[in-house]
Amino acid sequence: MKTTINEENSGLANLQGVTIACTDCQTGQMRRQYVTYYTWLGDELISVPDFPAWVCDVCGRREYDPHALNQLTLLLSPNAGKPTPRPPRKPMQKPMRKGPRPSRQE
Ligand SMILES: [Zn+2]
Repeated sequence: MKTTINEENSGLANLQGVTIACTDCQTGQMRRQYVTYYTWLGDELISVPDFPAWVCDVCGRREYDPHALNQLTLLLSPNAGKPTPRPPRKPMQKPMRKGPRPSRQE
């Protein structure tokens, strides 16, 4: 069973008491909690307190809130809003044709 988290319009308060089945251990329930999120920004380790996440009460798995992650990424990324650079194009290997094909003459 797949549970979709949709909190687009729902306030975070509405998620109090809501649990979703843990995707990892399948036995635990993941509850809405606020944790400290750690991430690397370049060479610096930064911590984000009160970060919304779902935490399993059995295995302790953490699923960070995708919307909050998205916002954090936008905040931290100096390239926010810019289009992502395309991966370098691989050179096409074209079969080399040397000169015109000799046409058969009957
Ligand atoms: Zn679990």
